[in-house]
Amino acid sequence: MSDLKTLKIREVITALLNYERFMLFTHVHPDGDAMGAIVAMQLILRRLGKRVDAYTQDPCPPEYAFLGSVQEIRNRPSDSVEYDAAILVDCGDMERVGEKFLDSVKAAHFVINIDHHLVNKPVGNVNWVETAASSTCEMLFDLCMSLSLAPDKALATALYTGILTDTGSFRYSNTNARVFEIISALVGFGAEPARIAGHVYDSASPEKLKLLARVLQTIEFHASSRIVTAELTRSMIADTSSNYMESEGFINHLRSVKSADMAILFRETGEGLIHVSMRSRGDINVARLAQRHGGGGHKQAAACRIPGELHSVRSMFIGEAVSYINGKSNV
Ligand code: 5GP
Ligand code: MN
Repeated sequence: MSDLKTLKIREVITALLNYERFMLFTHVHPDGDAMGAIVAMQLILRRLGKRVDAYTQDPCPPEYAFLGSVQEIRNRPSDSVEYDAAILVDCGDMERVGEKFLDSVKAAHFVINIDHHLVNKPVGNVNWVETAASSTCEMLFDLCMSLSLAPDKALATALYTGILTDTGSFRYSNTNARVFEIISALVGFGAEPARIAGHVYDSASPEKLKLLARVLQTIEFHASSRIVTAELTRSMIADTSSNYMESEGFINHLRSVKSADMAILFRETGEGLIHVSMRSRGDINVARLAQRHGGGGHKQAAACRIPGELHSVRSMFIGEAVSYINGKSNV
């Protein structure tokens, strides 16, 4: 372990031991790493004998509902409880907790930020940011080891889920020997790979599959097929009786095309914003493209939300992506 990492973990542990009542947050539209990390952190704090309330602006996606304590996660701030400190997990910046909770984080006496995003605006009194980590759940595994805390089945399951989903089932470039060492340890602590994969990947509703079929019909290729795009409209959601949250993993279908170094999915959020999700291969840094529009993420997985109407946002953004990929623009 590097000296800096040891130091950062020690700072986190000192803060965890120092305070008693914690509020816990992760990012809006939580994914597997966000849900795994918030559940895991809740379990870790309870093992330390601390009081903790977890908050997410958006509800837990159904595929992560099997992670035990998600029912306890609150969706609105509490004005009756006083907290000593706030912990942010998997949040590239403070705004990512969502507007409902931004004031609670800003008002916190002490903020602990635990994250692995490339674009992280340090927000905390303690900022432990590990861009080399596959996932926030990998970092929380290291935290457990430093605390000499052996995960029980529920904690191992939460950590496994975050690592599984943030490595794209051990396929992305953030998958390395250390990931497999941790995964092996987590299975030893009771995580069940087949059961977890069944919940995460094979629990879709018929409506979700119908929505995916509609989205896949919109596929287009640009820049000599190096860019693949697709779009999701509100009417597709209405026509298929599905919901927006069910489209979370759709972008992964786009990147299966061999020629496509960049995949872009445009989604109408229904709030006058277009959610632009990007995935890339090789040297293409989509976090930089997302940053231009106030978003962020990782080199190979990033997103932003752009105000406007789908078709104009789409053509503007594809123009930027084509110039970037053709090397015409320096981002
Ligand atoms: P997605 O396409 O799944 O919405 O997001 C891809 C990645 O970018 C995720 O790791 C997500 O956490 C991150 N991300 C998405 N939107 C934002 C944003 O507005 N700001 C930052 N900093 N990261 C984002
Ligand atoms: Mn993550």
